[in-house]
Amino acid sequence: MKTYLQFINGEFVPSLSAKTRDVINPATSEILGQVPESQPEDVDAAVKAARVAFDTGPWSTSTAVDRQNLLLKLAQAMRDNFEKLVVLEVQDCGKPRREAEFDVDDAASCFEFYAGLATKIHGETMNVPANSFSYVVREPIGVCAQIVPWNYPLLMSVWKLAPALAAGNTVVLKPSEVTPLTALELAKLAAEVGFPKGVINIVTGDGPVAGNALVNHPDIDKIAFTGGTETGKRIGATAATNLKKCSLELGGKNPVIVFEDAPMDLALDWGLFAAFANSGQVCTAGSRFLIQESIYDQFVEQFVAGAQNIRVGDGLKDDTTMGPLVSKNHLNKVEEYVKIGKSTAKLALGGDRPKGMDQGFFLNPTIFIDVDPKSRIAAEEIFGPVVVLIKFKDEEEAIKLANDTSYGLGYGIFSNDVTRTHRVMSKIKAGIGWVNFYHPTFNEMPWGGYKQSGTGRELGLYGIESYLEVKQININLDQQPEGWYPK
Ligand code: NAD
Repeated sequence: MKTYLQFINGEFVPSLSAKTRDVINPATSEILGQVPESQPEDVDAAVKAARVAFDTGPWSTSTAVDRQNLLLKLAQAMRDNFEKLVVLEVQDCGKPRREAEFDVDDAASCFEFYAGLATKIHGETMNVPANSFSYVVREPIGVCAQIVPWNYPLLMSVWKLAPALAAGNTVVLKPSEVTPLTALELAKLAAEVGFPKGVINIVTGDGPVAGNALVNHPDIDKIAFTGGTETGKRIGATAATNLKKCSLELGGKNPVIVFEDAPMDLALDWGLFAAFANSGQVCTAGSRFLIQESIYDQFVEQFVAGAQNIRVGDGLKDDTTMGPLVSKNHLNKVEEYVKIGKSTAKLALGGDRPKGMDQGFFLNPTIFIDVDPKSRIAAEEIFGPVVVLIKFKDEEEAIKLANDTSYGLGYGIFSNDVTRTHRVMSKIKAGIGWVNFYHPTFNEMPWGGYKQSGTGRELGLYGIESYLEVKQININLDQQPEGWYPK
């Protein structure tokens, strides 16, 4: 069995406590290896290393061009190790190879995007009502605590690392305890391409211990968290108590509105992808379909038929189009929702585990129809291959149903009426919208939610702003004293 180590101050080291945790392949239940169960003392060592690197290490005097070049080298190293990263990601979190390939490519592109932005950080000069040369500079914030979930282990890590490093910060990243392997591989590549020690640190413990120690550490300057809304609320409260800067990317229960004038081929193709990509374990998963009543029956029939073509299996097998859920615990949680759904709505497909595949954490694509919008399966984030279909009468009702949620992350609209799509989009209270497709995500575009889906934005220019402090500087150009206190 392989032993993995956490990455602190440029070295791979065990936990000071020597405790370890098994990492499981969700498609086979096999143990992939063991990682350190990082403890508060490991987190403390990582924060200290990041602090020294930021305050006095080579990072503190690095130029934007130095950082650009290192980020480009890291992106290239990822491309050179593409296959290794893809296989590791599939084994660790179960997604189909095609989706993992997309993630690795997109993660490398994210480093390239922020490598470009590293040299575009700039200040401003201001005309002020005094003889002062007054200007604004942007500076890195300092030591950033970054915590990510298990659904996109590599991509979520890179969305956090790339802007933080481009801006000149140092980082302690905690991947999910369920899926730590690609983040550790990334640390190895970062060391190989020359990132100075202490700039990137990875601790591998669980949330309540290592994560909690990290967000409570007095010497961090910023917390960036992606994960569940309940965890996010706790972390936000801690950040507020300690007055740390904090950005939160949280959950969603995302509506996909299909109007009667929708391009049906696109609505079905992208609709299935919206619901079942990454086994529905996507914060923006289209998990709540709102379908106009005149096309409801036709849509249901074709959507169910399309979902029957999904091939559930080990992500490393060529013909697999949907992998397992990430863990036994998570499968159990999703099955609880299926049970609730069976007692409150009509099951049109799935709800069961695929036959003869008990070694992994698989669940068949599951579709509930004629769902009450107020029921739990329509209101709560299930985070699995479970989708609810709800009928609506007209545009007004569609908008009302779409917004009737505590979340506000993603949404989709399928309609050929461009005027209608603009009108509807302007009324939806959520951060990320797609018309006539779903899920494509661009490094250039801001990512984040309204309401209980989070605060702040990642990616694009917005993403780097949240890793920069803004400082004003005023230089007196007068040679004569003001004479504030005449003799
Ligand atoms: P989670 O909240 O259980 O865990 C996320 C991370 O937080 C993990 O690394 C975990 O170890 C850590 N953590 C847990 N408790 C903690 C604590 N008390 N203190 C500090 N850290 C703690 O979420 P999950 O189950 O790993 O991920 C699924 C959730 O993530 C879903 O709700 C999904 O919508 C959300 N998500 C959001 C986005 C987005 O961009 N908005 C992206 C991906 C996932």
